[in-house]
Amino acid sequence: MKKGAAEVGIWDEQAGVGMSGAFSIGVDLGGTNLRVAAYSGGTDFLETILLPTRLAAGRERVVSDICEAIDALAQRHNGQRKLAGIGIGTPGPLELPRGVLRNPPNLPGWDGFPLRSAITAKLNRGVRLESDANNAALAEQCLGAGLRYGVSTLCMLTLGTGVGSGLIFRGQVWNGVTGMGGEAGHMIVQDQGGEPCGCGGSGCLEQYASAKAVLRMARERLGEEAPASAHDVALLARAGDARACGIFDAVGHSLAVALTGLINTLNMPLYLLGGGLCDAWDLFSPEMFRELHLRSYIYRLTEPSELEPERLEEKKTYILRAQLGPAAGLLGACLLGFQESSSMGRVGI
Ligand SMILES: [Zn+2]
Repeated sequence: MKKGAAEVGIWDEQAGVGMSGAFSIGVDLGGTNLRVAAYSGGTDFLETILLPTRLAAGRERVVSDICEAIDALAQRHNGQRKLAGIGIGTPGPLELPRGVLRNPPNLPGWDGFPLRSAITAKLNRGVRLESDANNAALAEQCLGAGLRYGVSTLCMLTLGTGVGSGLIFRGQVWNGVTGMGGEAGHMIVQDQGGEPCGCGGSGCLEQYASAKAVLRMARERLGEEAPASAHDVALLARAGDARACGIFDAVGHSLAVALTGLINTLNMPLYLLGGGLCDAWDLFSPEMFRELHLRSYIYRLTEPSELEPERLEEKKTYILRAQLGPAAGLLGACLLGFQESSSMGRVGI
């Protein structure tokens, strides 16, 4: 059985919250789905509520949906357990500590919206806010790969529809001074003639290593034969289609360029890749490791003898698959809920 958070004492060290009798509520607000969960530790939820994000009905309606789901879970689980706190994950960028959204591409029309104060006013209690990618990184550190390998400092890239990222430094989210740190999905990997990006720039990693990017490259290279999903492009590559294989080589190349910048700058022991596109790990990782060895001198100096060992050697740089799957963001929001009740500060603010 997988070790739970209680057995390794993370609350005592990190959140200052005893496990027995406490629960938190986490919210993962996405552009399509709204997920709200009650949580008491480990990698399972006490209860989850899944709703569509009713963006067309307006921001107030979405905030009401969030608060009604929180109230319902709080009422059902308060009693034998005590509510320690509430954590919320949203698409970034997010201005902290105020909790104001800054032109998030996945929540059109929410630029400047003070999400934290809107929720706090309705619930009449404090909540803690963080970007969804930072929450996923926090969960991976506390409950996933970080727990398994005993690593408290890591960088996670989530290769989904876009590319999210989060930095965890000694068990804490690295926010930067305004809450907008860790947006590695918008590192430039194509300097000349790069694809335009939703952030306003061009040539960003997100345009070359996301499910959306794989579909664009499939249309460019396969024309009318292009499959309708990144998963199907992967199937085509595994069936031996050289054009489809070339797409995943391009993904691996772009990841190597971005990882070179991260590894040379940060010198962290662990870089995790998560998100749906990692199902194609077998297709893009050979090119990624080959290119990374050529490009990053820090990687060459710290390259491990085994890429996927049982235990991590000290003073090496590992690039591994994340372990928690699509629940990572919601688990991270729940962990944030436990941190909300503590006096712990954050790195960078
Ligand atoms: Zn960008």
